Amino acid sequence: MSKPAFASPAPRATCPVLVNSLDARDSKEASDPKEAHDSMELHLAERFGLESFRPWQRDAIDALLGDPGKVLVVAPTGGGKSLTYQFPATLFEGTTVVISPLIALMEDQVRGLVERGIPATFLASTLPREEVKRREEGLERGDYRIVYLAPERLANDWLIRLLGRLRPPLVAIDEAHCISQWGHDFRPDYLRIGAVLKALAPERVLACTATATPLVRDEILERLNLGDAKVVLRGFARPNLHLAADPLESPKQRKTRMTRALTKALGDPDAPKGAAIVYAATRKNTENFAAEASDLGYRTGYYHGGMEPTERAKVNADFASGKLDVVVATNAFGMGIDRADIRLVVHVQAPGSIEAYYQEVGRAGRDGEPATGLLLSSSADFNLRRRLIERPWEGGARSQERIAQQWSMFLDLMRYVEAGSCRHDFILRYFGDEAELLGGCGHCDVCERLGDDDPVERKVSEEDALMVRKALSGVARARGRVGLKAIAEMLSGKTNQRIRRWGMDTLSTFGLLKDQGLDWNVRLLRRLLTAGYADVDGGEYPLVAITRRGAAVMKGDEPVRVFPPETRSAAPASKKGFTLPSGLDPALYEALRQKRSELARTKGVPAYVVCTDRSLADIVSRRPRDEAGLQQCYGMGPARVEAWGEGLLSVVRAEG
Ligand code: ADP
Ligand code: ZN
Repeated sequence: MSKPAFASPAPRATCPVLVNSLDARDSKEASDPKEAHDSMELHLAERFGLESFRPWQRDAIDALLGDPGKVLVVAPTGGGKSLTYQFPATLFEGTTVVISPLIALMEDQVRGLVERGIPATFLASTLPREEVKRREEGLERGDYRIVYLAPERLANDWLIRLLGRLRPPLVAIDEAHCISQWGHDFRPDYLRIGAVLKALAPERVLACTATATPLVRDEILERLNLGDAKVVLRGFARPNLHLAADPLESPKQRKTRMTRALTKALGDPDAPKGAAIVYAATRKNTENFAAEASDLGYRTGYYHGGMEPTERAKVNADFASGKLDVVVATNAFGMGIDRADIRLVVHVQAPGSIEAYYQEVGRAGRDGEPATGLLLSSSADFNLRRRLIERPWEGGARSQERIAQQWSMFLDLMRYVEAGSCRHDFILRYFGDEAELLGGCGHCDVCERLGDDDPVERKVSEEDALMVRKALSGVARARGRVGLKAIAEMLSGKTNQRIRRWGMDTLSTFGLLKDQGLDWNVRLLRRLLTAGYADVDGGEYPLVAITRRGAAVMKGDEPVRVFPPETRSAAPASKKGFTLPSGLDPALYEALRQKRSELARTKGVPAYVVCTDRSLADIVSRRPRDEAGLQQCYGMGPARVEAWGEGLLSVVRAEG
């Protein structure tokens, strides 16, 4: 095999591209950093056929090339994480090691790399013995730029010693959340990685994952000994996804809701607009619901772990090639699905966690066109999930600790179902991706309910808004000394030892929301947390405090954008079209709409990704002069302002 390109004697910077970029960053009188940037992009185009880095990819790669060269990348599936190790691998001399649990994906990636002239291979137990031997010999000769390893390979001491001799310049760990015993996808083999890293002592380590909450992130860093790693977290926002969740009164409603959603998303079964995935929690249900979808006339298959591997492979292939419109599946389906035109992902039963949900729903709309994620759940799901969590696995009973952890992850998901504020923002906050908050996406089911034709008078009624403000004043008066339960007790006027000890029964907010009862107050406070109006610290007894935003809402400086919990079952949301309220300048509104179309066209996204009509109306009404002012407008979170702010503001300024 030919010697890899870019080999040069320099110990750390082994290619002209890299040398340039390091020079540019290291020298104070910066040789034009733009030039270095361009040469990296040139290399990207030549080697990978891609035009430019996504900004966070560039951040991750820069951090990996810098000191100490340890990076954790958290970005959703399909975000482009593999480039963050494949690209650097082509800059270094030697063989980069990538650990990945997904054999099908490994095969794809190796094929793609080889096609691009980057020598790569993988080792997994699915290969014939002689093939493994052949590849190991190639490895020893230094034939490969990249070797992928399935985690079970790490038990092979001989292989680890071989890799040790090769001194890999970079070790990358894909799907790093698999190391977390508290995550949703624990792989015991991953626990070996810590020791392997010690043995290989590579200069650079990159871990990446699509699904890591802050807790899991910390666990990854600890177990991989990456305490000083830079964490690059980005790309969770999926504004082209319309998210909705329906708590059902009875499990029977699942079928009608599913068929309605399928018909709406795919249309005519003879000429469906793309594909749909329906996720069910049990094998039996995949078959039942598949029968329903098939009755509608869609070409439907089902998929679960109890089927023969050949049957499963066929469903996978038929879905990928467009021979099937709908697959009804358990969560076993989906690893490596690469169909861009999935218009709908319905969960007819609640999955186990927000991580699992977002990963599954994230398979919709990869082409950037509008797509829908609908999550159906009923109270029967609680019992089902509890059984699934307690079920023994891999021969052993589950520890109480693990059961408790998984249960709390499920409850987080049920909070998402219950959310009283924007679902996108809920998820972004959950993952800690604050930079991409939209401040209300404008088109999830909650935003639709929150929105109103009049941008000043929200659909949160005055009474509801007042209740939220009362609760916030309760949070403020508790001054971060107690937890959520105690604040709820105080608001609902309950006394007990704890309340008396903190003197909470003497506060002016004591019993302020007495009529609603304790449970309602607990739920309201949870909504304040998910809306970002209040926050908890991560201690053993989490204490709740008001946030700056919550304080602004409490004082009435910002409108209330969260619904209090329903006291009875909610009326279905009405979905009226938007009309500009009277009194607002229609000419400015029209100019903004035109600007929005123009912005959307240049980026190839639907107009509502830029912002909604409601946001435009609010911009007309407030006439912001700068980005700070724009951020006050409905639905204009920091991510939107950063992406589109200049364009929108230019229109307002031009109107004087
Ligand atoms: P992940 O590992 O995060 O799930 P992948 O690395 O498989 O995602 O990338 C998903 C898709 O995005 C691939 O088809 C890849 O070619 C594409 N991609 C990655 N980075 C870029 C980029 N900078 N520009 C354009 N396409 C990209
Ligand atoms: Zn929303």
